[in-house]
Amino acid sequence: MPTRPAGGSVVLLSGGMDSATCLALAARDRPPVHALTVVYGQRHLREIRSARRLGRRYAVARHIVLDLPLGPLLDSALTRSGRPLPGARRRRGSIPTTYVPARNTILLAVALGYAESEGCGAIYYGANAVDYSGYPDCRPEFVRAFARLARLATRAGVEGGRTIRVVAPLLHRSKGDIVRLGDRLGVPWELTWSCYAGGERPCGQCDACRLRARGFRQAGRTDPLVPGLRPGSRRSA
Ligand code: ZN
Repeated sequence: MPTRPAGGSVVLLSGGMDSATCLALAARDRPPVHALTVVYGQRHLREIRSARRLGRRYAVARHIVLDLPLGPLLDSALTRSGRPLPGARRRRGSIPTTYVPARNTILLAVALGYAESEGCGAIYYGANAVDYSGYPDCRPEFVRAFARLARLATRAGVEGGRTIRVVAPLLHRSKGDIVRLGDRLGVPWELTWSCYAGGERPCGQCDACRLRARGFRQAGRTDPLVPGLRPGSRRSA
């Protein structure tokens, strides 16, 4: 007899707003939570500290911080410090230079193996197709394809008749919706990190900072990481 799932979930936890909101949802709906953070060579390593703090705040059952140095393989502005980050003038609809080749496929594959090993029934993944529509591995068709793969590629799915669900609860939400949802869940935004630039303070200029600012502006509240930026105002420097 195949073993039955013990329940629980794996959360891909980068330390950003979206994965923090996923963590709060998983803690509410699918405990015990196993958090997975991958150090893949991103230049904004500051987010790893945020991920660790979030894991502690939510008292996850286990937090794996996995060193998987993919930087030399994967060409991206997020992994190569010499590459400029895209600013506000990125062409709409184009895939930004912060796309990391196949990164989310790789991270989800690691999460899938971890979830099956732990007997977890779900992987929480903070893909968002509204604001990040340039990334192919954040689109609904990608999430559907990976969910199918999770059924076909695991013993749990093939023998056990047990599907490891790929839960992407933020897929169709705007950044403002995510802030409002996170507020209802009590997400500690001050522990999250979004900036791509690699500094100790948000740069205010990169795509991630702009999207974050837009989310807080839409939700009509102040970002605790940028207390000087009032709702309704635009940061110019
Ligand atoms: Zn930034």
